[in-house]
Amino acid sequence: MHESCGVFGVYAPNEDVARLTFFALFALQHRGQESAGIATTNGKRLQVYADMGLVSQVFSEDSLSQLTGDIAIGHNRYSTRGSSRVTNVQPMVVGKGSNTIAIAHNGNIVNAEHLREELSDLGYTFHTSTDTEVIANLVLSSPEKDWVGKIRYAMHRLQGAYSLVIMTRHHLFGVRGTLGVRPLCLGAIDSGWVIASESCALDHIGANFIREVEPGEIVSITENGVDSYQEEVGRRALCIFEYIYFARPDSIINGRLLYLARQAMGAGLAEEHPVDADMVMGVPDSAIAAGTGYSYRSGIPLGEGLLKNRYVGRTFIEPDQRIRDLGVKLKFNPLPQMLDGKRIVVIDDSIVRGTTTPKVVALLRRAGVKEVHMRICAPPIRYPCFFGVDMATRWELIAAQKTIPEVRDFIGADSLGHLSINGLIRAVALPKDIFCLACFTGDYPIPVQLEMDKLALETMPVGQQEPFGIKQR
Ligand code: SF4
Repeated sequence: MHESCGVFGVYAPNEDVARLTFFALFALQHRGQESAGIATTNGKRLQVYADMGLVSQVFSEDSLSQLTGDIAIGHNRYSTRGSSRVTNVQPMVVGKGSNTIAIAHNGNIVNAEHLREELSDLGYTFHTSTDTEVIANLVLSSPEKDWVGKIRYAMHRLQGAYSLVIMTRHHLFGVRGTLGVRPLCLGAIDSGWVIASESCALDHIGANFIREVEPGEIVSITENGVDSYQEEVGRRALCIFEYIYFARPDSIINGRLLYLARQAMGAGLAEEHPVDADMVMGVPDSAIAAGTGYSYRSGIPLGEGLLKNRYVGRTFIEPDQRIRDLGVKLKFNPLPQMLDGKRIVVIDDSIVRGTTTPKVVALLRRAGVKEVHMRICAPPIRYPCFFGVDMATRWELIAAQKTIPEVRDFIGADSLGHLSINGLIRAVALPKDIFCLACFTGDYPIPVQLEMDKLALETMPVGQQEPFGIKQR
């Protein structure tokens, strides 16, 4: 399961803004590994450098030194809407003359196709297949005179998930959609201000966390400092997977350190699904914290049974078929001396299609594990995501097709337990009504039926196209 992107912006005259952005993107690499880019402005013109690959592959001393100015924005991309190709990399520079912006986006716009058609009819041309270009042209098409007015105009038309950084020749803006699906926060450095998807990016560049950018808020940063403009907000829908999996464990969202939230998920699993076992282990890296929580609460010793090759990442070198067949072995290596003859509780963040978990279970069994008890931080995922998470279509989601005992048998575990929705909310320790839980409940925060029907018909095997019966409000 993949999230769509990480964004960053900095307003800091007299600083090397491109270099600051590079290191912030480095800290946000987990949010997207497909392409990276940085745009800067020196007050006269916008420059951009972006390419396919990891942050460290895309930039060199040479490319960074050419990106000069007082303001920069940056982006790590994992493509959801818009295919994986170099024309879709971000930040994008869109517009002409003084009506030009650079923009970077995290999220997914549900009504993007409709808006694209409308803007095309008005004469706007599109060079990419991304939502981001739709947002940019919507801002530029606004009849309002000032930039805040133009962004507000776009926010009134956009439906879905978006956390944005937008740069003009003299301005930096941070924008969070009214649902607040994706996080965004504001920080300060000695000589200016920064905006980032996650607080871990602030820590790495020595910035102080100031606050979250609120759902529906536009943060405007100029030489005069920070101004805030708040749009009316209805239902809030922060993606609960930020807490389960996407965000880094050292990030803080809504005052809650992710590591502690994940540890509490593990403790909740120990209460809801106890079992007799010899060792608890979290699947690295995302379930390590939850593993410690299960161990503390159950009293079962914590151990490490799988080592992760942390540098697998995305690479331009395509594995050949023999290497591809190794699958999960490329990523994890078991420690047989830790596992042989033991009953193991294995904590993982989620089961989506059910393609990886059986391989992990088989790997553990081959290393001599006697019993495998899978415990999963996410409740069963039965509905697809329309807000930028590249999950699966509904017919591919294993929990939409099988009962929990059937999934247990399919993955080859001795037992399987998911954290309940209430258990998850208790672990996160924040009000339930600020979250999107749609992939568990089908209760989407905005209507998505048309999108769902289209996706179902496009992607389901012939003969399986059934109506879904999705709840909406
Ligand atoms: S549907 Fe699931 S993955 Fe998508 S935004 Fe909502 S909680 Fe997150």
